[in-house]
Amino acid sequence: MSYLHLKVPPTRDIRLRPCNAYGGNLENLVCGQKEGCLSNNGRTFAQTTGCQLTLAMGMAASIPNTVVIYHGPVGCGAGSLGLAGQSKMSQQARGNDDAVGRVWMSTNLSEVDIVSGGEKKLEAAILEAERRFRPHAIFIGNTCVPAIIGDDIDNVATRLQDRVNARIIPLHCEGFKTRFVATAYDIVYHGILRYLLGNQHDRKPIIEDEAAQIAYELRRKKTVNLLNVGSMGYVDEVELVRLLNAIGLEANVYPCFTSPEKFVKVKDAALSISICATHDDYFVEHLKEHYGVPYVLNTIPIGTDNVRLWLLDVADFFGIREEALKVIAAEEAELNKALEPLRKSFVGKTAFVSTGEIRAGAQACMLENDLGIKVVGIRAHHYDEFGEIVFENFKDRDDVTINVAANQPFEQVNLLRRLKPDLYLGHGNSNVWAAKQGVPVLPIYGPNNSYLGYKGIFEVASRLERILSNPRWYNTLGETTQLPYKESWYEQDPYLYIRQTTEAA
Ligand code: SF4
Repeated sequence: MSYLHLKVPPTRDIRLRPCNAYGGNLENLVCGQKEGCLSNNGRTFAQTTGCQLTLAMGMAASIPNTVVIYHGPVGCGAGSLGLAGQSKMSQQARGNDDAVGRVWMSTNLSEVDIVSGGEKKLEAAILEAERRFRPHAIFIGNTCVPAIIGDDIDNVATRLQDRVNARIIPLHCEGFKTRFVATAYDIVYHGILRYLLGNQHDRKPIIEDEAAQIAYELRRKKTVNLLNVGSMGYVDEVELVRLLNAIGLEANVYPCFTSPEKFVKVKDAALSISICATHDDYFVEHLKEHYGVPYVLNTIPIGTDNVRLWLLDVADFFGIREEALKVIAAEEAELNKALEPLRKSFVGKTAFVSTGEIRAGAQACMLENDLGIKVVGIRAHHYDEFGEIVFENFKDRDDVTINVAANQPFEQVNLLRRLKPDLYLGHGNSNVWAAKQGVPVLPIYGPNNSYLGYKGIFEVASRLERILSNPRWYNTLGETTQLPYKESWYEQDPYLYIRQTTEAA
């Protein structure tokens, strides 16, 4: 799928044809996705959703010693304000005591600029970023306005590259271009591949014989790329590196919170190990095509079933399955002993899970198989071809409703009123709605908490046990909060506004 010759990679809407609007059972979702008809689904009424700019700039800004420039009206950066300190804390957690955190600028386009063009302001911002911060790389995040008026950010970057030391990396992450904010990951990886790893867009995909030879050489090295995500705490990285070390592998972690200078080593690894296909499929496929680095990306290591699958995928590549099975057996035995006293708190409890596709499926599976909590509903931000493995646990299950929705709190409040779960595991923004309905909430990730690997299973179980032992705060919030929806809405089908298509386009 090499797209590195393109200035702008295709959006997920075109490349993967995912679905962002669905309500029903898993069987129809999986069938519809395979047939290609679900990508045409939509809503006849929808509330706001995210903008890929925020996600792209968050990922870019996690890379130390860089400046991100928002090229557009100043308001486009507003969504990033809340994340200002997170990058610094996360870098410090990884041992960078000099971390300054996110360094960002805006070209602050005005109404006059929209008529006369914004390229001059962008040029000035790049030169100012270089003068003030001397960064290793400058990311330009293009917003809707300059894209519509025709500013050529690639041309500006090329013109200025000889005048600045920093690598200038244009990112075409305009919000209006896609319904799927995960496109942002492709955009940032595209920039890293095209501009940070050298003139790699000129590099031709390698041929099959060459790939076999490279794969053989790499396998001997036993050093792997572990791909993290911005929302993954350092504690999770430590846990996954521990497991990889336990089966005899060394791991370098990319791309978030890793200095741009270190990126060059990414192409020398034996294997790229993803923890989330939604995040990484674009990157690992290009690393394979252009450098011969193979990859695994079947699942996220959440819950014993998926940790096992993840580790065995890696072990099978190196031919060390037996060693991995021994590590897994020892870890699972210890974990089971630790979980035993907690499990009685979960008897008869139900949960609703809401997050990204891969995490949603694996987290729901962990609740049922490791803790004995019955899952009554799963809400994924989108659904695509990578969802099938992690949702496997729920096939043939008509007692679990599957909702595909990014935000859309009106659908969620209706579902929660009907399903009345004892627990809600979800994202920051949707958590608030569940809490206001009186449902105890466990945030599904946070940079200081542990979620992945065996440690993550125990930590999540411990936190759930604590929440269930005293849900009073949530109960009071639910009893005293009036949500903005009329009672008549709760009597309607929660999926009333989803327009389902039955035929592929
Ligand atoms: S959708 Fe466009 S205008 Fe709105 S924040 Fe995103 S880039 Fe800016």
